[in-house]
Amino acid sequence: MSKIQLLDSRLANQIAAGEVVERPASVLKELLENALDAGARQITVDVEQGGTKLIRVRDDGGGIERDELPLALSRHATSKIHVAEDLEAIGTLGFRGEALAAISSVSRLSLTSNTGEQAEGWEVVVEGRDMAPSVTPAGHPRGTTVTMRDLFFNTPARRRFLRTEKTEFNHLEEVFRRIALSEFQTGFRLSHNQKVVHQLPSGDNEALRVARVARLCGSAFMEQSMPVDVSHAGLRLHGWLGLPTFSRSQADLQYFYVNGRVIRDKVVSHAVRQAYSDVLYHGRHPAFVLFLELDPALVDVNVHPTKHEVRFREQRMVHDFLYRTLHRAIAEVRPADRLDVPA
Ligand code: ADP
Ligand code: MG
Repeated sequence: MSKIQLLDSRLANQIAAGEVVERPASVLKELLENALDAGARQITVDVEQGGTKLIRVRDDGGGIERDELPLALSRHATSKIHVAEDLEAIGTLGFRGEALAAISSVSRLSLTSNTGEQAEGWEVVVEGRDMAPSVTPAGHPRGTTVTMRDLFFNTPARRRFLRTEKTEFNHLEEVFRRIALSEFQTGFRLSHNQKVVHQLPSGDNEALRVARVARLCGSAFMEQSMPVDVSHAGLRLHGWLGLPTFSRSQADLQYFYVNGRVIRDKVVSHAVRQAYSDVLYHGRHPAFVLFLELDPALVDVNVHPTKHEVRFREQRMVHDFLYRTLHRAIAEVRPADRLDVPA
């Protein structure tokens, strides 16, 4: 054992990147969340070679000031929270100020942005953080484009863990699906190797919502699910609940959002399982796309770097509300659609 030394910042960033950037899909998740946090109404995603070669996310959100462009790439730099109290009620998808720093330390990244106050935009380019970022003028309408190329080009050990193009793209598409289901007022487009895979128009009317869910989750789900929308004591649950007859052998069509953030949570899973327990056979899983809305102060999202987990301050209350709402909805299903009887 030799002396204890502080890691240089480049190495520290690469190590920290491991928590945030596991594969191309994790890059896409962070970039899409940033675009939504910036208030984008249209987000365009272009991907090449399963995202390992290129991921480009363009939005029409609020943009980044010229002087702040290099800062956006620094670790622990965020515009979303300022003081410790802000952690008590987080209203944005990001807040850790880690993503762009992490991604830029393991890829070649460019960030082009325009806040809309000037005619042109500005661009900053970094390659694995070897150089100090320089800012140059670049044509760009209001909004931001982040272009990530050659993921893990400088970390061969990580690169070896990447799977085939198809597998990586499947993960990317799943991230896209989750996020596109979270914000109906924003239009999304995804293309892979120059071919458009999903084109989802914006607009928050019922027909567009149904069309989007059918496009992303399949029309069979849409046909065999029921809409729910119930509010009680400051909690609101809405979305679509798969009929028991639409149960699945895997828990692969389960989307649960808390204030617009897709999450996995034991309290939620337990409430759902209980609600379906009378009508599903052992080993079968329900399908659902559900949105829970509640006061952000009642949920802690600062549990894990990927922010997939949350902690409810009033677990019991949330559990009982979910269970009661779902149980009631299932009880109203007509008998023919109720029991998941194998044909
Ligand atoms: P976080 O999202 O946790 O704040 P990030 O590293 O993802 O951290 O982003 C750092 C900062 O860069 C953000 O706080 C935001 O101010 C700015 N930023 C990143 N992406 C965008 C975007 N698409 N549009 C506008 N600002 C952005
Ligand atoms: Mg972010």
